[in-house]
Amino acid sequence: MLVFVRASVLYRASSPSQPGEWGRGLASGVFDALVIGGGIIGLWTGLDLAMRGLRVAVLERGVIGGETSGKFHGLLHSGARYAVRDPVSASECISENRVLSRIASHAIEDTGGYFVALTREDEEYYEELSKALRRIGIPFREVPVEEARREEPELNPGARIVIEVPDKVVYGRDMVVSVALTAFREGALVLEHLEAMEIRSAGEELVVRLQDRLRGDSVELRARAVINAAGPWAGEVAKRAGVRAEVMPTAGTMVVYPRRLTRRVINRMRPPSDGDIVVPYGSSSIAGTTAFIVEDLENVEPVEEEIEFLTREAAAMLPRIAELPVARAYTSIRPLIRIGSEPEKAGREATRSFQVIAHSEPRGFFTVVGGKFTTARLVAEKLGDTVAKYLGVGKRSRTSETPLAGQDPYQELRELKNIDGALLQRVLDSIRGGMDEERGRLAAYAALHYAVTAMSRKALGLPTA
Ligand SMILES: Cc1cc2nc3c(=O)[nH]c(=O)nc-3n(C[C@H](O)[C@H](O)[C@H](O)COP(=O)(O)OP(=O)(O)OC[C@H]3O[C@@H](n4cnc5c(N)ncnc54)[C@H](O)[C@@H]3O)c2cc1C
Repeated sequence: MLVFVRASVLYRASSPSQPGEWGRGLASGVFDALVIGGGIIGLWTGLDLAMRGLRVAVLERGVIGGETSGKFHGLLHSGARYAVRDPVSASECISENRVLSRIASHAIEDTGGYFVALTREDEEYYEELSKALRRIGIPFREVPVEEARREEPELNPGARIVIEVPDKVVYGRDMVVSVALTAFREGALVLEHLEAMEIRSAGEELVVRLQDRLRGDSVELRARAVINAAGPWAGEVAKRAGVRAEVMPTAGTMVVYPRRLTRRVINRMRPPSDGDIVVPYGSSSIAGTTAFIVEDLENVEPVEEEIEFLTREAAAMLPRIAELPVARAYTSIRPLIRIGSEPEKAGREATRSFQVIAHSEPRGFFTVVGGKFTTARLVAEKLGDTVAKYLGVGKRSRTSETPLAGQDPYQELRELKNIDGALLQRVLDSIRGGMDEERGRLAAYAALHYAVTAMSRKALGLPTA
Protein backbone atom coordinates (compact mmCIF):
# COMPACT_ATOMS: atom_id res chain seq x y z
CA MET A 1 0.00 0.00 0.00
CA LEU A 2 1.23 3.48 -0.83
CA VAL A 3 0.21 6.14 1.67
CA PHE A 4 0.73 9.67 0.44
CA VAL A 5 1.26 11.85 3.47
CA ARG A 6 0.02 15.41 3.27
CA ALA A 7 1.53 16.89 6.35
CA SER A 8 -1.38 19.31 6.84
CA VAL A 9 -3.67 16.39 7.68
CA LEU A 10 -1.12 14.86 10.01
CA TYR A 11 -0.66 18.11 11.83
CA ARG A 12 -4.27 17.98 13.01
CA ALA A 13 -3.89 14.34 14.00
CA SER A 14 -1.35 15.25 16.66
CA SER A 15 -1.30 17.99 19.23
CA PRO A 16 2.07 19.66 19.36
CA SER A 17 2.18 20.77 22.95
CA GLN A 18 5.78 19.78 23.58
CA PRO A 19 8.69 22.09 24.10
CA GLY A 20 9.90 23.10 20.69
CA GLU A 21 6.59 22.35 18.96
CA TRP A 22 6.86 19.05 17.16
CA GLY A 23 7.22 19.18 13.45
CA ARG A 24 6.98 22.93 13.34
CA GLY A 25 5.09 24.20 10.33
CA LEU A 26 3.82 20.89 9.01
CA ALA A 27 0.50 22.61 8.39
CA SER A 28 1.90 24.17 5.27
CA GLY A 29 2.01 20.71 3.74
CA VAL A 30 5.63 20.42 2.65
CA PHE A 31 8.86 20.19 4.61
CA ASP A 32 11.61 22.64 3.82
CA ALA A 33 14.17 19.88 4.07
CA LEU A 34 14.31 16.13 4.58
CA VAL A 35 17.57 14.63 5.79
CA ILE A 36 18.22 11.01 4.86
CA GLY A 37 20.34 9.23 7.49
CA GLY A 38 20.15 9.47 11.28
CA GLY A 39 23.85 9.13 12.02
CA ILE A 40 25.70 11.95 13.77
CA ILE A 41 25.96 14.00 10.55
CA GLY A 42 22.26 13.71 9.65
CA LEU A 43 21.26 14.62 13.21
CA TRP A 44 23.49 17.69 13.41
CA THR A 45 22.14 18.71 9.99
CA GLY A 46 18.55 18.37 11.22
CA LEU A 47 19.44 20.51 14.23
CA ASP A 48 21.31 23.11 12.21
CA LEU A 49 18.43 23.59 9.78
CA ALA A 50 15.74 23.57 12.48
CA MET A 51 17.64 26.31 14.32
CA ARG A 52 17.53 28.39 11.16
CA GLY A 53 13.74 28.17 11.40
CA LEU A 54 13.26 25.50 8.72
CA ARG A 55 10.70 22.69 8.79
CA VAL A 56 12.81 19.59 8.79
CA ALA A 57 12.68 15.84 9.39
CA VAL A 58 15.53 13.38 9.76
CA LEU A 59 14.72 9.99 8.18
CA GLU A 60 16.56 6.92 9.45
CA ARG A 61 16.02 3.42 8.09
CA GLY A 62 17.05 1.73 11.36
CA VAL A 63 17.67 3.50 14.66
CA ILE A 64 19.56 6.75 15.08
CA GLY A 65 23.25 6.18 15.81
CA GLY A 66 22.78 2.51 14.99
CA GLU A 67 25.56 2.34 12.39
CA THR A 68 29.00 3.98 12.28
CA SER A 69 28.01 6.70 14.74
CA GLY A 70 27.36 4.04 17.38
CA LYS A 71 30.40 1.90 16.56
CA PHE A 72 33.42 4.16 16.35
CA HIS A 73 36.43 4.61 18.60
CA GLY A 74 35.16 7.27 20.98
CA LEU A 75 38.01 9.70 20.31
CA LEU A 76 37.28 13.42 20.23
CA HIS A 77 40.26 14.17 18.05
CA SER A 78 42.75 16.88 18.90
CA GLY A 79 43.78 16.65 15.24
CA ALA A 80 47.28 15.41 16.15
CA ARG A 81 46.62 12.08 14.46
CA TYR A 82 46.13 13.80 11.09
CA ALA A 83 48.52 16.74 11.53
CA VAL A 84 51.24 15.51 9.18
CA ARG A 85 49.26 13.95 6.34
CA ASP A 86 45.88 15.64 6.48
CA PRO A 87 46.27 19.17 7.87
CA VAL A 88 42.82 20.33 6.73
CA SER A 89 41.10 17.61 8.71
CA ALA A 90 43.50 18.16 11.64
CA SER A 91 42.58 21.81 11.81
CA GLU A 92 38.84 21.01 11.61
CA CYS A 93 39.35 18.54 14.47
CA ILE A 94 41.07 20.94 16.88
CA SER A 95 38.53 23.66 16.26
CA GLU A 96 35.57 21.27 16.75
CA ASN A 97 37.26 19.70 19.78
CA ARG A 98 37.04 23.18 21.36
CA VAL A 99 33.47 23.90 20.19
CA LEU A 100 32.05 20.56 21.39
CA SER A 101 33.86 20.82 24.73
CA ARG A 102 31.98 24.09 25.22
CA ILE A 103 28.50 23.09 24.06
CA ALA A 104 28.37 19.39 24.95
CA SER A 105 30.72 18.91 27.90
CA HIS A 106 28.32 16.33 29.39
CA ALA A 107 29.16 13.91 26.56
CA ILE A 108 32.91 14.46 26.72
CA GLU A 109 35.65 13.38 29.11
CA ASP A 110 38.72 15.57 29.06
CA THR A 111 41.26 12.79 29.35
CA GLY A 112 44.10 14.26 27.34
CA GLY A 113 46.18 12.03 25.09
CA TYR A 114 49.77 10.86 24.82
CA PHE A 115 51.71 10.10 21.65
CA VAL A 116 54.39 7.58 22.52
CA ALA A 117 57.57 6.77 20.56
CA LEU A 118 58.76 3.21 21.09
CA THR A 119 61.30 2.74 18.29
CA ARG A 120 63.90 4.74 16.41
CA GLU A 121 61.47 5.25 13.50
CA ASP A 122 58.85 6.53 15.93
CA GLU A 123 61.43 8.97 17.30
CA GLU A 124 62.22 10.18 13.81
CA TYR A 125 58.53 10.90 13.21
CA TYR A 126 58.51 13.21 16.25
CA GLU A 127 60.25 16.00 14.39
CA GLU A 128 57.76 15.97 11.53
CA LEU A 129 54.83 15.67 13.93
CA SER A 130 55.91 18.53 16.20
CA LYS A 131 56.43 20.84 13.21
CA ALA A 132 52.98 20.02 11.87
CA LEU A 133 51.35 20.52 15.28
CA ARG A 134 52.94 23.97 15.58
CA ARG A 135 51.92 24.91 12.04
CA ILE A 136 48.27 23.97 12.62
CA GLY A 137 48.12 25.36 16.16
CA ILE A 138 47.45 22.12 18.03
CA PRO A 139 48.91 22.62 21.53
CA PHE A 140 51.33 19.95 22.73
CA ARG A 141 53.93 19.45 25.41
CA GLU A 142 56.85 17.07 25.60
CA VAL A 143 56.45 15.04 28.78
CA PRO A 144 59.56 13.63 30.50
CA VAL A 145 59.31 9.84 30.20
CA GLU A 146 59.53 9.39 34.01
CA GLU A 147 56.61 11.77 34.47
CA ALA A 148 54.60 9.97 31.78
CA ARG A 149 55.27 6.64 33.50
CA ARG A 150 54.18 8.08 36.83
CA GLU A 151 50.99 9.43 35.27
CA GLU A 152 50.30 6.29 33.25
CA PRO A 153 51.91 3.36 35.07
CA GLU A 154 50.77 0.84 32.43
CA LEU A 155 52.85 2.54 29.74
CA ASN A 156 55.65 0.50 28.17
CA PRO A 157 58.79 1.24 30.25
CA GLY A 158 60.75 1.37 26.98
CA ALA A 159 58.97 4.55 25.81
CA ARG A 160 61.53 6.95 24.31
CA ILE A 161 59.57 10.17 23.74
CA VAL A 162 56.11 11.13 25.01
CA ILE A 163 54.08 14.20 24.07
CA GLU A 164 50.72 15.28 25.44
CA VAL A 165 47.93 16.63 23.19
CA PRO A 166 44.30 17.65 23.89
CA ASP A 167 42.70 14.36 22.76
CA LYS A 168 39.46 13.65 24.64
CA VAL A 169 36.86 10.91 24.85
CA VAL A 170 33.38 11.44 23.40
CA TYR A 171 30.58 9.17 24.59
CA GLY A 172 28.76 8.27 21.38
CA ARG A 173 25.29 7.50 22.67
CA ASP A 174 25.15 10.55 24.95
CA MET A 175 26.11 12.81 22.05
CA VAL A 176 23.77 11.20 19.49
CA VAL A 177 20.76 11.43 21.79
CA SER A 178 21.63 14.97 22.93
CA VAL A 179 21.77 16.20 19.32
CA ALA A 180 18.51 14.39 18.46
CA LEU A 181 16.77 15.78 21.53
CA THR A 182 17.94 19.33 20.81
CA ALA A 183 16.81 19.02 17.18
CA PHE A 184 13.42 17.77 18.35
CA ARG A 185 13.08 20.64 20.80
CA GLU A 186 13.89 23.02 17.94
CA GLY A 187 10.97 21.58 15.96
CA ALA A 188 12.62 18.85 13.86
CA LEU A 189 11.12 15.38 13.61
CA VAL A 190 13.48 12.45 14.12
CA LEU A 191 11.86 9.53 12.33
CA GLU A 192 13.16 5.97 12.62
CA HIS A 193 12.44 2.83 10.59
CA LEU A 194 11.86 4.78 7.38
CA GLU A 195 14.13 3.79 4.49
CA ALA A 196 14.45 6.19 1.56
CA MET A 197 13.79 4.08 -1.52
CA GLU A 198 13.38 6.73 -4.20
CA ILE A 199 13.91 10.48 -4.53
CA ARG A 200 12.27 12.21 -7.50
CA SER A 201 11.32 15.69 -8.66
CA ALA A 202 7.74 16.84 -8.66
CA GLY A 203 7.59 20.41 -9.92
CA GLU A 204 9.34 22.70 -7.46
CA GLU A 205 9.48 19.97 -4.84
CA LEU A 206 11.15 16.65 -4.28
CA VAL A 207 9.27 13.54 -3.24
CA VAL A 208 10.93 10.89 -1.08
CA ARG A 209 9.32 7.47 -1.18
CA LEU A 210 9.98 5.67 2.08
CA GLN A 211 9.57 2.09 3.12
CA ASP A 212 8.14 1.97 6.65
CA ARG A 213 10.13 -0.91 8.12
CA LEU A 214 7.74 -1.24 11.06
CA ARG A 215 4.54 -1.36 9.06
CA GLY A 216 5.87 -2.75 5.80
CA ASP A 217 4.13 -0.22 3.55
CA SER A 218 5.25 2.94 1.77
CA VAL A 219 4.96 6.58 2.75
CA GLU A 220 5.78 9.62 0.63
CA LEU A 221 7.04 12.91 2.03
CA ARG A 222 7.64 16.12 0.12
CA ALA A 223 10.25 18.80 0.63
CA ARG A 224 11.93 21.67 -1.13
CA ALA A 225 15.35 20.19 -0.41
CA VAL A 226 16.55 16.66 0.32
CA ILE A 227 19.90 15.95 1.96
CA ASN A 228 21.64 12.65 1.55
CA ALA A 229 23.56 12.11 4.82
CA ALA A 230 23.54 8.32 4.62
CA GLY A 231 27.23 7.98 5.51
CA PRO A 232 28.69 4.81 3.99
CA TRP A 233 25.40 4.34 2.11
CA ALA A 234 25.45 7.82 0.52
CA GLY A 235 26.45 6.30 -2.84
CA GLU A 236 23.48 3.93 -2.70
CA VAL A 237 21.04 6.71 -1.72
CA ALA A 238 22.38 8.91 -4.55
CA LYS A 239 21.60 6.06 -6.97
CA ARG A 240 18.05 6.04 -5.65
CA ALA A 241 17.84 9.70 -6.75
CA GLY A 242 19.26 8.73 -10.15
CA VAL A 243 22.65 10.41 -9.59
CA ARG A 244 26.20 9.45 -8.65
CA ALA A 245 28.11 10.20 -5.48
CA GLU A 246 31.45 8.55 -4.83
CA VAL A 247 32.01 7.17 -1.35
CA MET A 248 34.89 4.96 -0.30
CA PRO A 249 33.43 2.69 2.40
CA THR A 250 36.44 1.85 4.58
CA ALA A 251 35.84 -0.63 7.37
CA GLY A 252 37.70 -0.73 10.66
CA THR A 253 37.66 -3.01 13.69
CA MET A 254 37.92 -2.16 17.36
CA VAL A 255 38.55 -4.50 20.32
CA VAL A 256 37.10 -3.86 23.78
CA TYR A 257 38.85 -5.02 26.97
CA PRO A 258 36.90 -4.95 30.23
CA ARG A 259 39.30 -2.71 32.16
CA ARG A 260 40.42 0.85 31.90
CA LEU A 261 44.20 0.81 31.84
CA THR A 262 44.94 4.51 31.42
CA ARG A 263 43.55 7.91 32.21
CA ARG A 264 44.56 9.24 28.78
CA VAL A 265 44.16 8.19 25.17
CA ILE A 266 47.41 6.46 24.13
CA ASN A 267 48.56 6.87 20.50
CA ARG A 268 51.63 5.42 18.84
CA MET A 269 53.91 8.15 17.53
CA ARG A 270 53.94 7.21 13.86
CA PRO A 271 51.89 8.05 10.74
CA PRO A 272 48.26 6.84 11.12
CA SER A 273 48.34 3.09 10.69
CA ASP A 274 46.63 -0.06 11.87
CA GLY A 275 46.67 -0.79 15.59
CA ASP A 276 48.08 2.50 16.82
CA ILE A 277 45.64 3.75 19.47
CA VAL A 278 43.98 2.73 22.75
CA VAL A 279 41.05 4.81 24.02
CA PRO A 280 39.92 4.60 27.66
CA TYR A 281 36.13 4.48 27.30
CA GLY A 282 34.30 4.53 30.63
CA SER A 283 35.57 1.53 32.57
CA SER A 284 36.97 -0.25 29.52
CA SER A 285 39.84 0.17 27.06
CA ILE A 286 39.24 0.09 23.29
CA ALA A 287 42.09 -0.78 20.92
CA GLY A 288 41.94 0.00 17.24
CA THR A 289 41.82 0.09 14.43
CA THR A 290 42.18 -1.33 10.93
CA ALA A 291 41.27 0.13 7.51
CA PHE A 292 40.11 -1.88 4.51
CA ILE A 293 37.77 -0.93 1.68
CA VAL A 294 34.61 -3.02 1.49
CA GLU A 295 31.98 -3.56 -1.17
CA ASP A 296 29.34 -5.38 0.85
CA LEU A 297 28.26 -2.83 3.44
CA GLU A 298 25.82 -5.09 5.23
CA ASN A 299 28.11 -7.91 6.35
CA VAL A 300 31.19 -6.55 8.05
CA GLU A 301 32.41 -8.54 11.03
CA PRO A 302 35.66 -8.62 12.98
CA VAL A 303 37.89 -11.59 12.22
CA GLU A 304 40.08 -13.44 14.71
CA GLU A 305 43.38 -12.34 13.09
CA GLU A 306 42.37 -8.69 13.40
CA ILE A 307 41.66 -9.12 17.10
CA GLU A 308 45.03 -10.80 17.65
CA PHE A 309 46.82 -8.16 15.59
CA LEU A 310 45.15 -5.26 17.41
CA THR A 311 45.88 -6.81 20.80
CA ARG A 312 49.54 -7.29 19.86
CA GLU A 313 49.94 -3.71 18.63
CA ALA A 314 48.13 -2.27 21.65
CA ALA A 315 50.33 -4.37 23.96
CA ALA A 316 53.42 -2.72 22.48
CA MET A 317 52.20 0.51 24.10
CA LEU A 318 50.40 -1.00 27.13
CA PRO A 319 51.85 -4.47 27.80
CA ARG A 320 49.16 -5.39 30.35
CA ILE A 321 46.44 -5.35 27.67
CA ALA A 322 47.67 -8.72 26.39
CA GLU A 323 46.70 -10.27 29.74
CA LEU A 324 43.12 -9.00 29.63
CA PRO A 325 40.27 -11.02 28.18
CA VAL A 326 38.60 -9.59 25.08
CA ALA A 327 35.11 -8.40 26.03
CA ARG A 328 33.99 -7.97 22.41
CA ALA A 329 35.03 -6.62 19.04
CA TYR A 330 33.07 -4.66 16.47
CA THR A 331 33.53 -3.39 12.94
CA SER A 332 32.02 -0.36 11.25
CA ILE A 333 32.50 1.63 8.08
CA ARG A 334 34.01 5.07 7.47
CA PRO A 335 32.25 7.02 4.73
CA LEU A 336 35.43 8.48 3.20
CA ILE A 337 35.86 10.63 0.12
CA ARG A 338 37.10 8.39 -2.69
CA ILE A 339 40.69 8.97 -3.81
CA GLY A 340 42.84 7.10 -6.30
CA SER A 341 42.40 3.47 -7.12
CA GLU A 342 44.94 1.70 -4.95
CA PRO A 343 42.74 0.06 -2.34
CA GLU A 344 45.46 -0.85 0.13
CA LYS A 345 46.70 2.76 0.32
CA ALA A 346 43.45 4.56 -0.15
CA GLY A 347 41.90 3.78 3.25
CA ARG A 348 44.70 5.35 5.32
CA GLU A 349 45.64 8.13 2.89
CA ALA A 350 42.14 9.39 2.17
CA THR A 351 41.32 12.72 3.77
CA ARG A 352 39.09 12.73 6.84
CA SER A 353 37.67 16.04 5.67
CA PHE A 354 34.32 16.28 3.85
CA GLN A 355 32.57 17.34 0.65
CA VAL A 356 29.11 18.81 0.09
CA ILE A 357 27.67 18.10 -3.36
CA ALA A 358 24.77 20.17 -4.74
CA HIS A 359 23.44 17.94 -7.52
CA SER A 360 22.13 19.81 -10.53
CA GLU A 361 19.53 17.11 -11.10
CA PRO A 362 17.26 16.49 -9.28
CA ARG A 363 17.37 20.14 -8.21
CA GLY A 364 17.34 20.57 -4.46
CA PHE A 365 19.17 17.27 -3.81
CA PHE A 366 22.42 17.46 -1.80
CA THR A 367 24.91 14.78 -0.76
CA VAL A 368 27.51 14.93 1.98
CA VAL A 369 30.51 12.60 1.98
CA GLY A 370 33.22 12.26 4.61
CA GLY A 371 33.72 13.92 7.98
CA LYS A 372 34.29 12.44 11.41
CA PHE A 373 32.21 12.11 14.56
CA THR A 374 34.40 14.94 15.91
CA THR A 375 33.68 17.25 12.97
CA ALA A 376 30.02 16.36 12.32
CA ARG A 377 28.73 19.68 13.69
CA LEU A 378 30.99 21.61 11.34
CA VAL A 379 29.98 19.42 8.38
CA ALA A 380 26.34 20.14 9.20
CA GLU A 381 27.02 23.88 9.47
CA LYS A 382 28.56 23.99 5.98
CA LEU A 383 25.79 21.80 4.61
CA GLY A 384 23.26 24.04 6.35
CA ASP A 385 24.82 27.14 4.74
CA THR A 386 24.48 25.55 1.28
CA VAL A 387 20.91 24.36 1.80
CA ALA A 388 19.77 27.60 3.47
CA LYS A 389 21.18 29.60 0.56
CA TYR A 390 19.38 27.35 -1.90
CA LEU A 391 16.13 27.85 0.00
CA GLY A 392 16.66 31.61 0.21
CA VAL A 393 17.01 31.65 4.00
CA GLY A 394 19.43 34.23 5.34
CA LYS A 395 19.76 32.97 8.92
CA ARG A 396 23.21 31.79 9.92
CA SER A 397 24.11 28.64 11.81
CA ARG A 398 23.83 28.89 15.60
CA THR A 399 24.92 25.40 16.62
CA SER A 400 28.46 26.42 17.61
CA GLU A 401 27.18 28.79 20.27
CA THR A 402 24.17 26.89 21.64
CA PRO A 403 24.65 24.33 24.41
CA LEU A 404 23.03 20.99 23.61
CA ALA A 405 20.09 19.67 25.61
CA GLY A 406 20.69 16.40 27.42
CA GLN A 407 23.03 17.55 30.16
CA ASP A 408 20.75 15.95 32.74
CA PRO A 409 18.90 13.15 30.92
CA TYR A 410 16.81 12.29 34.00
CA GLN A 411 15.44 15.82 34.14
CA GLU A 412 14.93 15.99 30.35
CA LEU A 413 12.73 12.92 30.54
CA ARG A 414 10.46 14.53 33.12
CA GLU A 415 10.06 17.56 30.85
CA LEU A 416 8.87 15.45 27.91
CA LYS A 417 5.42 15.11 29.37
CA ASN A 418 3.78 13.24 26.52
CA ILE A 419 6.00 10.17 26.77
CA ASP A 420 3.93 7.01 27.44
CA GLY A 421 6.31 5.81 30.04
CA ALA A 422 5.17 6.68 33.53
CA LEU A 423 6.51 3.37 34.80
CA LEU A 424 9.84 3.80 33.11
CA GLN A 425 10.00 7.31 34.52
CA ARG A 426 9.58 5.94 38.05
CA VAL A 427 12.27 3.31 37.54
CA LEU A 428 14.68 5.97 36.33
CA ASP A 429 13.73 8.32 39.16
CA SER A 430 14.62 5.55 41.61
CA ILE A 431 18.12 5.34 40.10
CA ARG A 432 18.70 9.09 40.27
CA GLY A 433 20.34 10.22 43.49
CA GLY A 434 21.44 6.70 44.39
CA MET A 435 24.66 4.76 43.95
CA ASP A 436 23.90 3.94 40.30
CA GLU A 437 23.05 7.42 39.02
CA GLU A 438 26.11 7.66 36.73
CA ARG A 439 25.66 4.16 35.33
CA GLY A 440 21.92 4.75 34.91
CA ARG A 441 22.50 7.78 32.66
CA LEU A 442 22.79 5.49 29.68
CA ALA A 443 19.35 4.04 30.41
CA ALA A 444 17.99 7.57 30.70
CA TYR A 445 19.50 8.42 27.29
CA ALA A 446 17.93 5.26 25.85
CA ALA A 447 14.55 6.34 27.23
CA LEU A 448 15.01 9.85 25.79
CA HIS A 449 15.94 8.32 22.45
CA TYR A 450 12.72 6.33 22.53
CA ALA A 451 10.65 9.36 23.58
CA VAL A 452 11.94 11.64 20.82
CA THR A 453 11.64 9.11 18.03
CA ALA A 454 8.28 7.71 19.13
CA MET A 455 6.78 11.20 19.42
CA SER A 456 8.17 12.07 15.99
CA ARG A 457 6.49 9.04 14.41
CA LYS A 458 3.26 9.86 16.20
CA ALA A 459 3.38 13.42 14.86
CA LEU A 460 3.17 11.92 11.37
CA GLY A 461 0.46 9.48 12.39
CA LEU A 462 2.83 6.51 12.05
CA PRO A 463 2.59 3.61 14.50
CA THR A 464 5.46 3.06 16.95
CA ALA A 465 5.33 -0.71 17.15
C1 LIG B 1 36.59 2.08 12.71
C2 LIG B 1 36.17 3.51 12.86
C3 LIG B 1 36.63 4.27 13.94
C4 LIG B 1 36.28 5.61 14.03
N1 LIG B 1 36.70 6.33 15.10
C5 LIG B 1 36.39 7.65 15.19
C6 LIG B 1 36.78 8.38 16.33
O1 LIG B 1 37.34 7.85 17.27
N2 LIG B 1 36.47 9.70 16.35
C7 LIG B 1 35.81 10.32 15.33
O2 LIG B 1 35.59 11.52 15.40
N3 LIG B 1 35.39 9.63 14.26
C8 LIG B 1 35.65 8.30 14.17
N4 LIG B 1 35.22 7.58 13.11
C9 LIG B 1 34.47 8.25 12.05
C10 LIG B 1 33.03 8.48 12.46
O3 LIG B 1 32.57 7.43 13.26
C11 LIG B 1 32.16 8.60 11.22
O4 LIG B 1 32.73 9.53 10.34
C12 LIG B 1 30.75 9.08 11.57
O5 LIG B 1 30.20 8.34 12.64
C13 LIG B 1 29.89 8.93 10.32
O6 LIG B 1 28.62 9.45 10.60
P1 LIG B 1 27.52 9.45 9.48
O7 LIG B 1 26.34 10.14 10.03
O8 LIG B 1 28.10 10.00 8.21
O9 LIG B 1 27.26 7.90 9.16
P2 LIG B 1 26.40 6.81 9.96
O10 LIG B 1 26.55 6.94 11.42
O11 LIG B 1 26.71 5.47 9.38
O12 LIG B 1 24.92 7.21 9.59
C14 LIG B 1 24.34 7.01 8.32
C15 LIG B 1 22.93 6.53 8.57
O13 LIG B 1 22.21 6.49 7.32
C16 LIG B 1 21.27 5.45 7.43
N5 LIG B 1 20.78 5.09 6.08
C17 LIG B 1 21.47 4.45 5.11
N6 LIG B 1 20.70 4.30 4.02
C18 LIG B 1 19.50 4.87 4.31
C19 LIG B 1 18.28 5.03 3.59
N7 LIG B 1 18.13 4.57 2.34
N8 LIG B 1 17.23 5.65 4.20
C20 LIG B 1 17.34 6.11 5.48
N9 LIG B 1 18.48 5.97 6.21
C21 LIG B 1 19.55 5.37 5.62
C22 LIG B 1 22.04 4.34 8.12
O14 LIG B 1 21.16 3.40 8.71
C23 LIG B 1 22.88 5.12 9.14
O15 LIG B 1 22.28 5.16 10.43
C24 LIG B 1 35.49 6.20 13.02
C25 LIG B 1 34.98 5.43 11.99
C26 LIG B 1 35.31 4.09 11.92
C27 LIG B 1 34.74 3.24 10.85
